[in-house]
Amino acid sequence: MDGNRQTRILATLGPATDSVEAIGKLLDAGANIFRLNMSHAPHDWTRTTTVNIREAAAQRDLVPGILMDLQGPAIRTGDLPEPVELHQGDQFDFTVDPAVQGERVVGVNYPNFLNDIEVGATILIDNGLIRMKVLNKTKSVAECEVDIGGTMGSRRHINLPGTKVGLPALTDKDRKDVALGLELEVDYMALSFVREAADVEELQALIKVGDHPTKVVAKIEDQHAVKRVRRIIKAADAIMVARGDLGVECPYEELPIIQRHIVRECLTVGKPVVVATHMLESMINEPHPTRAEVTDVANAVFEQADAIMLSGETSVGNFPTMCVEVMDRIARRMEQERGARFHREAKLTDQRQRLAKSAVRMADDLAADAIVMFTVSGRMARETAWMRPRHAKILALCADPRVAGALAMHRGLTPVIIENFCPDFPVLDAIATLKERGHLQVGQTVVVSSSTKAVQEIANSVQVHEVS
Ligand code: PEP
Repeated sequence: MDGNRQTRILATLGPATDSVEAIGKLLDAGANIFRLNMSHAPHDWTRTTTVNIREAAAQRDLVPGILMDLQGPAIRTGDLPEPVELHQGDQFDFTVDPAVQGERVVGVNYPNFLNDIEVGATILIDNGLIRMKVLNKTKSVAECEVDIGGTMGSRRHINLPGTKVGLPALTDKDRKDVALGLELEVDYMALSFVREAADVEELQALIKVGDHPTKVVAKIEDQHAVKRVRRIIKAADAIMVARGDLGVECPYEELPIIQRHIVRECLTVGKPVVVATHMLESMINEPHPTRAEVTDVANAVFEQADAIMLSGETSVGNFPTMCVEVMDRIARRMEQERGARFHREAKLTDQRQRLAKSAVRMADDLAADAIVMFTVSGRMARETAWMRPRHAKILALCADPRVAGALAMHRGLTPVIIENFCPDFPVLDAIATLKERGHLQVGQTVVVSSSTKAVQEIANSVQVHEVS
């Protein structure tokens, strides 16, 4: 249970954590959302793991979100007859023509590679471990010189920092994965290598064809996305600062600036934001974090990001549950500090958002333990989370499990499903139900915000109750 921790923890599942038992342990340690990384996940594994998540959650009466992370238009090398040792100053070539592939010429899965890459451009292999510069282009190859050497294997991930890649936003594989995600009714789909708002809209249009309202998370992971980040934030339902690729695509000294800028922009317009990748990387092999990792996690919590993410640490690491416990501990401690409070720059556009702000202000002034609301679409709950209550947890009561799952990413927000809920559900009954289910205790102060239809008008109210 996350108790009173506000920052949500997103854990990537993999071979180390795909059983009901392992997922249960992650939930007990405080994980709020599970990520299925489609770069590695076959469909039968995705189906089984989704069932396992739901079983572990039902055993604990919890509503974790499920996020399907689509591979997107990733560029990869093809096969090499055998790995090649590359040293500084060596020549190595890339081609799109299978006929010219050989020992020192590797194929690329991107048909327009030779048109889009410029002489002088940088090519990075394996997340920047190998670096090359394009010296010359012929009809069939890009001739490169190695700047930083290493072992070049088959099917390696390529980054082309600064090069505008002309690949479609969604590949054929992504489309098949989207169909599976809709069938499995995942709560979120993350789109990799988003370059502009239209990429997000393309995925949203595909989702709309089905009848499950999956939310779209735009992963910001290259310079093009950073340049257009405001419009991408506006189009998406949530944002992920995907620091793995971002740290390769952009100069690394820019990374903290970009992270803070994105978190700030999201908090200005009220979109949830996840800080991802390498947060506890050393814990893949070690049972404790480095000091730098502790500070990095604490920094994201200080910035008041909605969620922090674990990747290899929980999917293939040796200490997955411990990683969640470490994040939980750092987040709880850091949340006692005042935080960056970027939401003070929030641009409120309607009455309902002002109601959310009033409820949060009242909860802060009274040092209330919880803010309770009934939500049909989830909007009131999302807007309350946006206003970043200082201590109070947000308990969002809803009838629809699909709405509840899609609230799991928001800071401080716990969705609670009440089967017989209707907008007229009496407040005192709701408080009693929350007490019965262990969300509230006798003597706690609760702020209840509601927005109901009274004759012709919408009546907004904020009330205070003590749990009896
Ligand atoms: C990242 O690059 O930080 C990221 C989250 O994406 P992926 O793990 O899919 O490469």
